[in-house]
Amino acid sequence: MIASNLRFVKSRIDSIKHNQEVQLIAVSKARSSSEIQDAIDAGQLHFGENYLQESLDKITSLKGNNLTWHFIGPIQANKTASIAENFDWVHSVDRLKIAKRLSDQRGADLGHLNILLQINIDREQTKSGLLVENIDEIIIEVNSLPNISLRGFMCIPNPHNSANSFNEMAKLLSKYSYLDSLSMGMSDDLELAIERGATLVRVGTDIFGKRNYN
Ligand SMILES: *Cc1c(COP(=O)(O)O)cnc(C)c1O
Repeated sequence: MIASNLRFVKSRIDSIKHNQEVQLIAVSKARSSSEIQDAIDAGQLHFGENYLQESLDKITSLKGNNLTWHFIGPIQANKTASIAENFDWVHSVDRLKIAKRLSDQRGADLGHLNILLQINIDREQTKSGLLVENIDEIIIEVNSLPNISLRGFMCIPNPHNSANSFNEMAKLLSKYSYLDSLSMGMSDDLELAIERGATLVRVGTDIFGKRNYN
């Protein structure tokens, strides 16, 4: 089931992408290590997790599979050390304090932690993320931090307006020639996101099936 779902999601990606590299991230929140193992056996190596506590057991039990782990959930300042030590990418950096802590707490032996700034592209009160007009200021500071590499931006758009929001994200990325990554697109809108330039798509439901929580 998971293997055939993965094949189908990959074929959707391949049919829509033009020149860009698109990395499929299998969002494994609420999924067991054995479900993740099924995806690994089908060739999937990038996984995304939202909740630190549940992710650590899985990361530990699946060590040795050469996996790349992406943290995509809300970040509490007191949890940054474990994130810095156990993940390869963090998509949900939404304030300078978090970037500073991740840099301070990233072990030098691990190499740079890849980070994305989460953008509240639709300016929704209920969502976290930076506002576009504050990006320039924070980027200068983030680029001076030694143990993280800023790679680009991430968003979770309002589903009613996502084509337009994805366009805004692409426009934002194009302002910074040294950035290369846009994390956008989930099960329901990955085609739209890839058409607008996504390089990382985060897909849960269409790989693993319906979840009991978000
Ligand atoms: C849960 C989640 C996803 C995956 O969503 P699906 O609709 O299940 O594909 C992607 N990104 C984030 C930030 C999520 O929390």
